[in-house]
Amino acid sequence: MTASSDTIEPVNPSPQPPADAFTASHPPGVVELVCGCMFSGKTTALLHALRQESADNILILKHDKDDRYSRSKIMTHDGDGFDAVTVSCAQDILDRVCHETKVVVIDEGHFYDEALPQVCKTLADQGKRVMVAALDLDMWGFQFSVIEQIRELAGVVRVQRSICAACGKPATHTHRKTPIIQNQIVGGSEDFEPRCRDCWSPPREAHIDSNEMG
Ligand SMILES: [Zn+2]
Repeated sequence: MTASSDTIEPVNPSPQPPADAFTASHPPGVVELVCGCMFSGKTTALLHALRQESADNILILKHDKDDRYSRSKIMTHDGDGFDAVTVSCAQDILDRVCHETKVVVIDEGHFYDEALPQVCKTLADQGKRVMVAALDLDMWGFQFSVIEQIRELAGVVRVQRSICAACGKPATHTHRKTPIIQNQIVGGSEDFEPRCRDCWSPPREAHIDSNEMG
């Protein structure tokens, strides 16, 4: 494990993946986290890094809560994608990884249960490169505790910014545009947009203590 945290923030305001940090090749035995609001290019950065990775034993995981674009691929909002194995909890990840797996890719890490930080640490301690992409804040502006814990143990942390849909400044928050009906909070661009802190406001609905947000 890499002991120190290499925090890089803020990154460029555009959602394009830069050519350093998360996208560079890293030694095995490290957890790398890319986080930020929706539409900040997290999955794009992940896919870009994957294309640079020379290891052939790569396991890409997708939570079964995330069925917005495809059930069997991790996809960017632009439609770019990689085939993935679907799991329903953090423990499933350990069951899917084998001795030969060198790189473990976890998209939408905020969908997972509280065991995910320990799973990431276990895999890194086994010498695997663990790459996680996740939201850092929910639509009410609260941190996902699972992601905060991964941030603590990650050797590399990259914070992505999008562009505020209201004013054009760097966006750090995810703004809900539509009412929440029957606690269904997963959605796409029809429901959410990136906003800066000044333009963002939380939903009128009471906070739903759930990680079911993409
Ligand atoms: Zn703004």
